[in-house]
Amino acid sequence: MTDRIIPIAEARYPARLPHIPEAGGQPVGLLADTRGRRLHDLRISVTDRCNFRCTYCMPKSVFGPDYAFLPQSSLLSFEEILRVARMFVAHGVEKIRLTGGEPLLRKHLERLIEMLASLQTPAGEPVEVTLTTNATLLAKRAGALRDAGLRRITVSLDAIDDDIFRRMNDVDFPVSSVLEGIEAAHRVGLSPVKVNMVVQRGVNESQILPMAKHFRGTGHILRFIEFMDVGASNGWRLNDVMSARQIVDTINEAFPIEPVEPNYSGEVAERWRYTDGGGEVGVISSVSSPFCTDCTRARLSTEGKLFTCLFATEGHDLRALLRGGFSDAHLAAAISHVWTQRADRYSEIRSSETTGLRRIEMSYIGG
Ligand code: SAM
Ligand code: SF4
Ligand code: SF4
Repeated sequence: MTDRIIPIAEARYPARLPHIPEAGGQPVGLLADTRGRRLHDLRISVTDRCNFRCTYCMPKSVFGPDYAFLPQSSLLSFEEILRVARMFVAHGVEKIRLTGGEPLLRKHLERLIEMLASLQTPAGEPVEVTLTTNATLLAKRAGALRDAGLRRITVSLDAIDDDIFRRMNDVDFPVSSVLEGIEAAHRVGLSPVKVNMVVQRGVNESQILPMAKHFRGTGHILRFIEFMDVGASNGWRLNDVMSARQIVDTINEAFPIEPVEPNYSGEVAERWRYTDGGGEVGVISSVSSPFCTDCTRARLSTEGKLFTCLFATEGHDLRALLRGGFSDAHLAAAISHVWTQRADRYSEIRSSETTGLRRIEMSYIGG
């Protein structure tokens, strides 16, 4: 059962049936991988579909009208997601982020949030449920999401200039509607809203200062993200990456900033604040200064495959256990085995050889 690659007709990526150890794997809220990294965060992709075609994530040339998205029967149901999430929480996960595709396209997402928000850590604390969204559907739903138990929200926005934004999302969607979504989230108390901008040299680097200017003083936290070589669709080249250093220098010249202590060890965004009190910005240096040493994230795909790295080439098929009559104890033992064997550190060893490997798409696994 352990080393077999399971052929699944609609599978996007290879996945193994996880090994289920005979003994051990009993959740005690503390799991560490081969490099001593705890299992602390779980990202759950709730759909592989999206209403945007961001050129760097789901280019129309690949995700066109004929693209075969996963059929409904492949998706984990809310009950299945809850069951897996409960096992992860028992193993030490304190934070769950819902992502996609565009997570707000998944019907009745509020119900899933309510289910996940009811989970408690072994110490009796509520699990923090958060969401990453393109905010196209946020303005109307912010209140319901908050009422369901959502604690925080991250909105992706790559430009404040309407023409550039419409070009980047490639479906002619206006900036104004995203801004309405951000304001609605802020109003209902999902604040501070984090706003993520992926910076691509030659595409939207001109937007660094306009974005900084727009969000200064609003209470929202703008975070600049280095363009990563995830997936195989975006034609990534190192030259397209604007480094965190260059981004910080660009902002600092116009609006002086100073570093802020991290909130907690392992925080991925480097924190900075405007010296004039205009608030905080973050920079995520996934390429120029990798943070694999502190990476405590597991990722669950829409069809229930567990990935232990954003750049993994193979997942672990938890859905096969969920639908194969295995018990919670089996599921917990399998998760434990996967995490304790984990050795991923792709960003630290990125090279011309690794960038050629077949990788999972960001729209499949979420950010
Ligand atoms: N659709 C939602 C959204 O855009 O917020 C959630 C899923 S999206 C895949 C999650 C995040 O991944 C977004 O902030 C997006 O900008 C980021 N992302 C996608 N491709 C990326 C890349 N190549 N490098 C860095 N970030 C990327
Ligand atoms: Fe959709 Fe988000 Fe990818 Fe853009 S980044 S195509 S909004 S999944
Ligand atoms: Fe974590 Fe993999 Fe990214 Fe390193 S490359 S930070 S191990 S997801």
